[in-house]
Amino acid sequence: MTRKLSPGKLVIASHNEGKVREIRALLAPLGMDVVSAGDLNLAEPDETGATFIENSLLKSVAAAKATGLPAMADDSGLAVKVLEGAPGIYSARWAGPSKDFGKAMQKVQAAIEEFDNIEQKADRSAAFICALSLAWPDGHTEVFEGRVEGQMVWPPRGEQGFGYDPAFQPKDYDVTFGEMDPAKKHEMSHRADAFKQLVNDCF
Ligand code: IMP
Repeated sequence: MTRKLSPGKLVIASHNEGKVREIRALLAPLGMDVVSAGDLNLAEPDETGATFIENSLLKSVAAAKATGLPAMADDSGLAVKVLEGAPGIYSARWAGPSKDFGKAMQKVQAAIEEFDNIEQKADRSAAFICALSLAWPDGHTEVFEGRVEGQMVWPPRGEQGFGYDPAFQPKDYDVTFGEMDPAKKHEMSHRADAFKQLVNDCF
């Protein structure tokens, strides 16, 4: 049985204020009083997991333990099929310390282009993945993995969104996430998918 979240305080284990704002708006109508890890001066644990789910749980479990409150965390990234899921959990790191996502998208393109095999070179399938986790102070956890399937395009197109959005075209659309109206992206994204599952199961 999935554990339900009772109305009250919920810690968001993120120091990204934009992300916290978005989550607060989503959860306020459900009776959750959202506080951020940043507000509580919580330390950020090292993301040493091998999967999105492991890294998401590292963050939510640490925040629940430190505060004695239920906590939520997310971990997300881009997984390219022929690259066996890379950049994956290293999606942010591929952009380097200057967070240059133009360079990160170029790295993905170069890695696909490197294949000699024509079929591999032509397979541009990819997915954005988001692992959303909840942890309670007694150690109980729940995890939801959201996905949006699509393909990598080159050159990147559009100025909207962030990260790898301009190089990712979701399935059944002819625009990239970088070209799409942000409201539309938020309705259909990997994060929206994970959130829908969480709201469905935990409220
Ligand atoms: P984090 O989970 O917020 O640390 O995100 C990890 C990295 O994945 C980000 O820095 C982006 O590079 C990438 N990423 C995650 N979600 C998206 C998205 O919706 N669009 C583009 N890039 C994303």
